Amino acid sequence: MRYTPDRGWHDAKIGPRTGLDMHPATKTLHYAIEIFEGLKAYRLPDGGATLFRPDANARRFQSSAERLAMAPLPEQLFVESVRALVRADRDWIPSAEGASLYIRPFMFGVDADLVPDPASEYLYCVLANPVASYFKSGDKAVTLWVSDTYTRAAPGGTGAVKCGGNYAAALVAQAEGKRQGCDQVVFLDAVERRWVEELGGMNVFFVFEDGSLQTPPLTGTILPGITRDSLITLARGMGLTVREERYGIDEWQADARSGRLVEAFACGTAAVVTSIGEVKGREQAFTIGDGGPGPVAARLKSALTDIQFGRAPDPHGWLDRLF
Ligand code: PMP
Repeated sequence: MRYTPDRGWHDAKIGPRTGLDMHPATKTLHYAIEIFEGLKAYRLPDGGATLFRPDANARRFQSSAERLAMAPLPEQLFVESVRALVRADRDWIPSAEGASLYIRPFMFGVDADLVPDPASEYLYCVLANPVASYFKSGDKAVTLWVSDTYTRAAPGGTGAVKCGGNYAAALVAQAEGKRQGCDQVVFLDAVERRWVEELGGMNVFFVFEDGSLQTPPLTGTILPGITRDSLITLARGMGLTVREERYGIDEWQADARSGRLVEAFACGTAAVVTSIGEVKGREQAFTIGDGGPGPVAARLKSALTDIQFGRAPDPHGWLDRLF
């Protein structure tokens, strides 16, 4: 679908993937005027299919567009475009355990000039791909690398929205983590280099021995994850206390050593809920619990995926059934 100031959004079409013909001066290639979303369609036990909270993705897409001075895409149009593609691709929604159809809506400025001002014309596309589990390690706990050299988002920056530039800037840290034998990077805040913010593509939760949970607050430098929000609701529904409060990397290390912290896990649309077993990159690596997957993460993951795959009731009205 295209946007021009005179016609608004127009020319919506669904078809096989084709190449895009772009002028070398296309603004986005130079100034990263690009935003995206990630969500999934799930196969239901009766053969139907559902989306999970696409309205939340539509709202986040809208706030990403605002932050990058891009044209707004009405939330209803976003949701309708995703529904239409999934219906067209219905045979591609996997039914294997844990598998789903990953959906990637994205939008970028297409004006062909080298002036670094907001774009006026846009292309909005949606891709869909069947996916299995995110981590090759399956349900094993992952190892994190604490990036001391790089930060992901500074106050006033774009950390709270989903734009391609955030990910480009994080790649070097991911590569550093991989070289150190870690699965993912955990980023600290850019000001004090102390507060745990999030992973490259996931929010993070901590579980304490008193059974309470904590997750970093949405201070403007982390992405407001839809999985994060859903898990807070589910955990509170189980009677667990959830604090949205800052947590320092040194406290994390000390609490893991003393046993006050019993579990930590990461969450996101792609990875769902994944336990964190070990953290490296400080002077000394530290292990969380016994280094394996934790019971609270497992319980929350089941609660979430049971709703997503239609195995449990949907008391919060999160499912958007397509057929
Ligand atoms: N943080 C970052 C940086 C991400 O890219 C993602 C994935 N969208 C998340 C957190 C988790 O967000 P969600 O639960 O909406 O997938």
